Amino acid sequence: MELPALSALYHQPLFELISQSRQVHLEHWRGEHVQRCSLLSIKTGGCSEDCSYCAQSAHYSTGVEREDLLPIDDILSAAHRARAQGATRFCMGAAWRGVRDGTPKFEQVLETVREVGQLGMEVCVTLGQIGAVEARKLRAAGVTAYNHNIDTSPEFYPEIVSTHTFADRLNTIAAVQESGMSVCCGGIIGMGESEDDRLRMLEVLSNFDPPPESVPINCLMAMPGTPLAEQPPVDIFELVRLIAVTRLALPIARVRLAAGRTRITREGQALCFFAGANSIFFGDKLLTAENPSADRDVQLLRELGLDTEMFARGSPSESRGLTAAP
Ligand code: SAM
Ligand code: SF4
Repeated sequence: MELPALSALYHQPLFELISQSRQVHLEHWRGEHVQRCSLLSIKTGGCSEDCSYCAQSAHYSTGVEREDLLPIDDILSAAHRARAQGATRFCMGAAWRGVRDGTPKFEQVLETVREVGQLGMEVCVTLGQIGAVEARKLRAAGVTAYNHNIDTSPEFYPEIVSTHTFADRLNTIAAVQESGMSVCCGGIIGMGESEDDRLRMLEVLSNFDPPPESVPINCLMAMPGTPLAEQPPVDIFELVRLIAVTRLALPIARVRLAAGRTRITREGQALCFFAGANSIFFGDKLLTAENPSADRDVQLLRELGLDTEMFARGSPSESRGLTAAP
């Protein structure tokens, strides 16, 4: 979808917009399903990149300590815990610029993926830049989806990162697409970007071929010590509008209400689910940032009458909850 069309959708009266997005949502998804994903930082801090939102960048003094890649057993324990709490997707993130085939750390990641893959959850990894060889090996090891966010518009990207380019991000995404892994790709709002930057990001995402299977919409967690530490919280109606337009532009993508939920009220989150968000990250930590507790999330979903059960796994339409509809 192109920018003028996205902009026309975005600027409708709010209730008109969310009525449309709800309708499209219900054509493709069961309205009461919200997938719960668990995200574990398997390698924290000390990253060479200077992403100005990120507490894990070695360029800023954020108090996040550099840690080694977690041992496989620790990751497996966390994966078991996540599954017991109802996660159907387990995501592992590493604070790396990227990773190359033939290195011990890549071998360890492959081994970890093989083990976690036995637990029956979708397996997602986010390891920074990779090429065709790494993508093929990750897929063969059992990765369902590779997360690599474009984060914002191509125009605004150089304002927030100088150590790699928007084109570098797209190259990794192309390698992931060629490998057959699904692409999880979204962005962050609240970094000082304009409304058009947010919509340009959706324009780029909706023109991916194939479109991303999953689109995380993060609200900036303003991390002390980073250049964006003083950014004000995102306005809830701007977030709801963006989620609704994401649903309209990417009807079959899972739209993930990702970082920043601690700054969104329960009522605000309910509006986001109505507008088209159908996944959350749960667990007390989101990489290095705070997240609502798993109990509070389950309570909120229950109060809204949303589904906290495990999803049926199988065909894509099953996992979208369509064939299981009453
Ligand atoms: N290093 C890899 C990369 O950059 O792709 C993977 C890890 S990185 C931490 C994954 C994503 O987390 C980023 O692309 C960004 O969208 C999100 N993220 C990181 N810090 C954030 C923050 N403070 N607020 C919101 N989202 C953030
Ligand atoms: Fe490193 Fe990823 Fe953080 Fe950028 S977002 S500094 S690449 S961990």
